[in-house]
Amino acid sequence: MASACNLVDQADPRLAPLAFGHLSLDERIEALVGAVPGRKVLTTSFGLEDQLLTHIIATRKLEVELVTIDTGRLFPETYDLWADTEARYGRTIRAIHPRAGALEQLGQEIGANGFRYSVEARLSCCGVRKVEPLARAIEGTALWLTGLRGDQSAARAVVDFVSWDDDRQLVKAAPLFDWKRPAVAAACRERGVPTNPLHEEHFLSIGCQPCTRAVRRGEDERAGRWWWEREGARECGLHVGDDGRLVRAAK
Ligand code: SF4
Repeated sequence: MASACNLVDQADPRLAPLAFGHLSLDERIEALVGAVPGRKVLTTSFGLEDQLLTHIIATRKLEVELVTIDTGRLFPETYDLWADTEARYGRTIRAIHPRAGALEQLGQEIGANGFRYSVEARLSCCGVRKVEPLARAIEGTALWLTGLRGDQSAARAVVDFVSWDDDRQLVKAAPLFDWKRPAVAAACRERGVPTNPLHEEHFLSIGCQPCTRAVRRGEDERAGRWWWEREGARECGLHVGDDGRLVRAAK
């Protein structure tokens, strides 16, 4: 049986981005799930995109695990949406938590909100609360589904529909890579997908509460994340390779 890596390396027509261009979103996801053997995971942070993908996976009863990283610093609205989503679809969304020992050490090193005072401290916090738990969430996974879109920020413009993540040795997919935010929002409305009420208050990209603010007119969607830092630093490490760049497709 071909490995997931081979499926990408061989430019299998089922996984070639252009071959998916004519498919609907639901068809893209079904084709991906059918094409990649092994464990499949959607990591959700309950944003618009993740909610739409969750809806499709749940309503089509696709064999994809729903997993979230509970950093311990999420908005109350996000926890409510998490519970509402589980109730709506009758699916448990598995939580991965930071390791207790690492959290204690982090607190001793940077304090409760030390991530505000340097990029290094912020990356340490994201490393303990997000990146390490994510590694456990997708360990042994063949297909990692994400809600990334290319126009969310300049840094994400390189996102492709499907790529081989060499660091993690898995196929990473972004079925919404070529969608715009209004189309995602409209699809959520049309399908009755539960969404975070904070979006109505201009919180477009929602992460941890102390590191997220509403965006202003003209700002990109991720401008409200770690807004005190320069644009180039505004990723948490979940979608970044060892070289610090966003992971993109194998060519
Ligand atoms: Fe820590 Fe903020 Fe990163 Fe959350 S987003 S893990 S609170 S630095």
